[in-house]
Amino acid sequence: MPNYSEKPTIIFDMDGTLLDLAYDDFIWNHQLPIRYAEQHNCTLEQSTQALFQFYQQHNHTLNWYSTRFWSAKVGVDTLALQQEFKHKVALRPGCIELLEYLKAHGYACWIATNADCEGLKFKLEQTRIAHYFDVIISSETIGYAKECVEFWQKLHSLHPFQVEHTYFIDDTEKVLKGAEKFGIQHLITIAQPSSQKEIRTESSYPILQELTDLMVILKQAEDLKKYA
Ligand SMILES: [Mg+2]
Repeated sequence: MPNYSEKPTIIFDMDGTLLDLAYDDFIWNHQLPIRYAEQHNCTLEQSTQALFQFYQQHNHTLNWYSTRFWSAKVGVDTLALQQEFKHKVALRPGCIELLEYLKAHGYACWIATNADCEGLKFKLEQTRIAHYFDVIISSETIGYAKECVEFWQKLHSLHPFQVEHTYFIDDTEKVLKGAEKFGIQHLITIAQPSSQKEIRTESSYPILQELTDLMVILKQAEDLKKYA
């Protein structure tokens, strides 16, 4: 039997959950169309349209999350593009405070991301948060996107965790649905994945207004356990 700690495992998504999604929006929805237009000698409008069509075709698949796939597909080195604007990669407010708290209180923290291995490495280098985590995994390694129940089955077989006591925080509804299908019960979403976009008020899942609100949720759960 795996040696489970008493505290629940907290699995975090990376982009839009721990990190500000504004960076990814900037790269994929603003910079890439400009570079694609330059590369293919077309107008920005044509480029935006072409990319939008690709995005529609590949959304929520492993390809969607692969910098290598996009580099080959659009003829622009998307990893180099990300590196060019690396100074824009940012943590969401309260991220370090939350991770410090979880570490001090003995919670195992994991990252499960759809970012591919290269993208993950790049973001971790920029944010220097890797040391907070016990497990860091990319869906590229697993072979399925987090939207698929197979991702969770394979993750669980590689790194066993107590499904019913695990918390999973992710800003994407379809990803949370995949985790729910697998049996994770404590599923939480994010009110404002991108600092440049509006605050979300509706979701099928509880919404974290601030990352640090998770500290309150975990404290309440601990108290319930104590007095049950
Ligand atoms: Mg995300």
